[in-house]
Amino acid sequence: MSVGDAPAAVWRTSWGARLALYLERTANLLGVILPAVAVVVAAVLTWKHLTTTRDLVLLAVMYLVTAVGLTVGFHRMLTHRGFEAQPAVRFVLLALGCMAGMSDPVSFAATHLRHHARSDRRGDPHSPADGMFHAHVGWFLMGFEADPQTYARWLLADPMVRFFRRTAWYWTAVGFAIPFAIGGWTGLLWGGWVRYFLTIHVTFSINSICHRFGRVDFETGDNSRNEWVLGVVGLGEGWHNNHHAFPRSPFHGLRWWQIDIAGYIIAGLARLGLAHNLYRVSPDARLARRVVRAQAAR
Ligand SMILES: [Zn+2]
Ligand SMILES: [Zn+2]
Repeated sequence: MSVGDAPAAVWRTSWGARLALYLERTANLLGVILPAVAVVVAAVLTWKHLTTTRDLVLLAVMYLVTAVGLTVGFHRMLTHRGFEAQPAVRFVLLALGCMAGMSDPVSFAATHLRHHARSDRRGDPHSPADGMFHAHVGWFLMGFEADPQTYARWLLADPMVRFFRRTAWYWTAVGFAIPFAIGGWTGLLWGGWVRYFLTIHVTFSINSICHRFGRVDFETGDNSRNEWVLGVVGLGEGWHNNHHAFPRSPFHGLRWWQIDIAGYIIAGLARLGLAHNLYRVSPDARLARRVVRAQAAR
């Protein structure tokens, strides 16, 4: 499906395109409501002592591996080209990213690069300048998508990426089938639906909370912030002001205490020879972009 560079409702004018938009918005709405219902059901089952250790382990493991797919694979490797990986590792990372169920890799990259290009200005897909609800989930419910031809053209020519773009929703189904196969219905609830709830809202929170609350360490010309809670649960993505200052850096935690699990994984892959060409931010570049407060404190 060809997509334009404006909010979906503006350019989708034919009946077929309108129907597709309606179905997309309905699917997105269900994709937000159903996981929330699942969290309530999971809480009731826990209250009745019907949650097992296996369910919680499934939640933790499925969250971790799919979040690694999103952060290490989709975001830092594919979208920002912070490093390159061996083909088998690249395949696994992209498969895990698709299992997360957020998006196919090309749509993810295009929408995200448009966010970087227009950050907190007119045309940003999800800026709190348009309201916190819009920044968190409203943009997603409206079916926003940036034009891949404009923002991620090189990915459309990549055979492995095109394969995952075509098969993304099968991998998403695998992300629910695995916990069901291991843990039955409660495994599906925790490792599938509750995990998906956490994944989407942590990801959405990077867009909303990390552009409103937290600490500014670098001059970026936008409202991006470093927020430590999301730095931990988002596997390092919460160091979002660092990321906007140096988008190509595969490491978002730039101080020793800025926990960056995705960055540790990338460093580990590089040490094993499975990742290479890691983009490095020079100390001079860091110094040049530090905010005045930090410079004055030195
Ligand atoms: Zn941002
Ligand atoms: Zn980014």
